[in-house]
Amino acid sequence: GFRMGIVGLPNVGKSTLFNALTRTAAAQAANFPFCTIEPNVGEVAVPDPRLDRLAEIAGSKQIVPTRITFVDIAGLVRGASKGEGLGNQFLANIREVDAIAHVLRCFEDDDVTHVEGRVDPIADAETIETELMIADLESVEKRLANLTRKLKGGDKEAAEQQRLLRAAQEALEAGRPARTVTVSEDDRKAWTMLQLLTAKPVLYVCNVAEDQAATGNAHSEAVARMAAEQGAGHVVISAQIEEEISQLSPEDAAMFLSEMGLEEPGLDRLIRAGYELLGLQTYFTVGPKEARAWTIRRGTLAPQAAGVIHGDFERGFIRAETIAFDDYLSGNGEAGAREAGKLRVEGKTYEVKDGDVLHFLFNA
Ligand code: GDP
Repeated sequence: GFRMGIVGLPNVGKSTLFNALTRTAAAQAANFPFCTIEPNVGEVAVPDPRLDRLAEIAGSKQIVPTRITFVDIAGLVRGASKGEGLGNQFLANIREVDAIAHVLRCFEDDDVTHVEGRVDPIADAETIETELMIADLESVEKRLANLTRKLKGGDKEAAEQQRLLRAAQEALEAGRPARTVTVSEDDRKAWTMLQLLTAKPVLYVCNVAEDQAATGNAHSEAVARMAAEQGAGHVVISAQIEEEISQLSPEDAAMFLSEMGLEEPGLDRLIRAGYELLGLQTYFTVGPKEARAWTIRRGTLAPQAAGVIHGDFERGFIRAETIAFDDYLSGNGEAGAREAGKLRVEGKTYEVKDGDVLHFLFNA
């Protein structure tokens, strides 16, 4: 599955947010038991109202949302790349995630110590980013040195790695994160394999005070500008509110939200933003037994999309009966969509679209 790492300086609200995410009613109402894989790893249902609509139309007995994994990565402090705090341990944790949710303290509270003694999310973001860049630069230099022998042997893969590592090195030495390097489609896979910390997409999470969750504040606005400049995502959230909401029944949560002037839990926005950031999309399988959402990367072809359900579906793929979500709705189900000529038969080269309702035919 896809993994998102929650990082940030100490005391910015990471654990509060993680607890809210993994205890939320949505995580528990889902048809799989919420599992804490490890104390700091949790799976969360991706909220998607379309799935509920589909289940309603088809009369599905079960609703199975798709999931995303969050990892609470503690231990990032100034000097972490030099072994301060938990040192290198957390770096390994970050290497393993697909994207980073970077929590920034945007709330004032004299009772909660700020490690740097002042609330300044932009400076905090730089502190963390600097640590990650130093760690990346060290790993790039080490790997470049290790390539020498292979290069002498004329290893083609090594030459490709060298080219990419040098591009990363140039950016990092100029004080820019590796994600600013333009990578061609052909190089994408080798680039991802380098697992550079600063090459991972970032979502800034502005943790604001309870009464500013709906409006944001000057700090979160500054973060929004920074995110826009970097091509990163950003969401405004109050981790404390989210933690409170996560312990309420759905009815009470709805009431609480409307009192706070919020349309939906911030967590829903956060999860969706993470999903966006990871370049993910959803397709559905719908029947009387269950309506289910499946996660694929944008651009995935039908056989590989089928493979997410089961390897046999991919290997024996014949075709996919496809109905776009809107057509399923306006046809009030599969039969109606078919009658209206909206059921398409797609083959191996079909690029699955977000919201497609699919039925795969395959050789067993
Ligand atoms: P972490 O070290 O980043 O995991 O931070 P925690 O989640 O443990 O939070 C540190 C402290 O800040 C705890 O006492 C939280 O209750 C508090 N805290 C977290 N979010 C907020 C917030 O939005 N407002 C206020 N006032 N306190 C918060």
